[in-house]
Amino acid sequence: MVVIRFDRIKRKTVLDFKCGGCGRRTKRTASAECTVNPFNKKADGCIRTREEVVQQAVQALEEKEVPKLIAEVEKTPCPKCSGQVRHAAK
Ligand SMILES: [Zn+2]
Repeated sequence: MVVIRFDRIKRKTVLDFKCGGCGRRTKRTASAECTVNPFNKKADGCIRTREEVVQQAVQALEEKEVPKLIAEVEKTPCPKCSGQVRHAAK
């Protein structure tokens, strides 16, 4: 059996949320993972290089994972109260 190991590239960021109701702070982590592999191609059909996959992971994190996490936290701001969530500075 041949095991092919793909280079996994993971990027993460920690977001700080503050509950507008009780003032509790919560830290949540958003992460995105991409792999360098023969199927990870660009629009022109070229396989993405490691640097390009890093960019891809950063982009996925900023455009997809962070907004997803923010939406998730806004839905359930705080288990203790139903206060509005405010985003602390990054
Ligand atoms: Zn709260």
